[in-house]
Amino acid sequence: MKEYTLDEIGSIVRPTMGDNIPLVFYRILRIIGMRRILGESSGATLYMMGKQVGGMLDAQNIDEFRQRIIEMKVGVPELEVVDEDHVLVKLYECITCAGFSYTGEMFCDMESGIIAGMLEKVYGRKAKSTQTKSWSMGYNYCEFEVLLY
Ligand SMILES: [Zn+2]
Repeated sequence: MKEYTLDEIGSIVRPTMGDNIPLVFYRILRIIGMRRILGESSGATLYMMGKQVGGMLDAQNIDEFRQRIIEMKVGVPELEVVDEDHVLVKLYECITCAGFSYTGEMFCDMESGIIAGMLEKVYGRKAKSTQTKSWSMGYNYCEFEVLLY
């Protein structure tokens, strides 16, 4: 199976449609489509997918980390360095869950993976991200605890 680059998939010729899609369409694919097909393994699979994509976004420092996430409209990140091995990322306006009512489960696994993948590049260390808050748990932002090891 051929692997495509960001340049290849970023070449968009849609003279009348442009390069934006309604966010609700993305959420249909992401929250309904992928979860239904992948079932119980959807969390782990989406996290791994996000991690690969996060690495491809190639942020070299915290400023680029913030810029890329905003450019891709994943959300508005706020990063707090807790100690040398722990970083806390709050994600406002999360692409997947912002506006969700309480469901009692968290499902921003792809965003979690994207954050981990990007921070691996930034810090040059392995990163594992765990989601700890989301709109669907009653907060008005998403939060991810990232362990660097
Ligand atoms: Zn979220």
